[in-house]
Amino acid sequence: MTSGRPDPALVARLLRQRREFGHGPLTLETLDRSQALSLAAGRGRASASEALPTTGDSTRESDDAGGPFAPPGEYDALREAALVCTRCRLAKGRTQVVFSDGSPDARVMVVGEAPGANEDRTGLPFVGRAGKLLDLLLASVSLSRRDSVYICNVLKCRPPGNRDPRSDEIEACSPWLHRQIELVEPEVILAVGTFSAQLLTGRNMALGKLRGEVYSYRGTPLVVTYHPAALLRNAGWTRSTWSDLQLLRGVLDGS
Ligand code: SF4
Repeated sequence: MTSGRPDPALVARLLRQRREFGHGPLTLETLDRSQALSLAAGRGRASASEALPTTGDSTRESDDAGGPFAPPGEYDALREAALVCTRCRLAKGRTQVVFSDGSPDARVMVVGEAPGANEDRTGLPFVGRAGKLLDLLLASVSLSRRDSVYICNVLKCRPPGNRDPRSDEIEACSPWLHRQIELVEPEVILAVGTFSAQLLTGRNMALGKLRGEVYSYRGTPLVVTYHPAALLRNAGWTRSTWSDLQLLRGVLDGS
């Protein structure tokens, strides 16, 4: 890297070298638009297991007993294992694990925060008013969960009373998400809400400061925006959210 902006090919090589030498997590610098588009086009793209967010490699996480935790590497097996997960305290209060909605072959992956009451009841992420708003936002850039978007959350179980996720819960649940991203291999990730954006960018900053850029998660372009539930409470963020969706569409289209 010769300037503040990383060259995608050099980044990919650096990540391969780090992996070969067994180094741990690495958060990438923010990419500019042309670099993100280059990544989206597959030039210099690191493989899904090469770059790691701040929470570390999912294959090196520990289970409740302190041993290694390696989520299954095949999609159906991963889903089945996650549906009976008891890795954190949230297992006790949930009705069911909320794993995903949409197609695992989707080009875009939306990563939210955690299930709410409706999601806990139905087993699907982003239902209710926030879910309808998300669908409208996605439709504004010609995307839909029916055929072009895969949707999941950082946490797969509902925190009691819809409280904020706790750091140990995020740490316990992150391996599921990291493996989901590896297996779905989206062309672009959209992180919605603060917890998802901070986890996937590896930056502990307010969402308002994070949005508007294209990041890289393990070589995959990543855009962040407000959570639809927050948007319902603050309509003033609508213009920014629409702008973020346009950014996502531009990366996806490679233009
Ligand atoms: S929130 Fe995640 S780690 Fe915790 S029990 Fe549910 S699936 Fe397991």
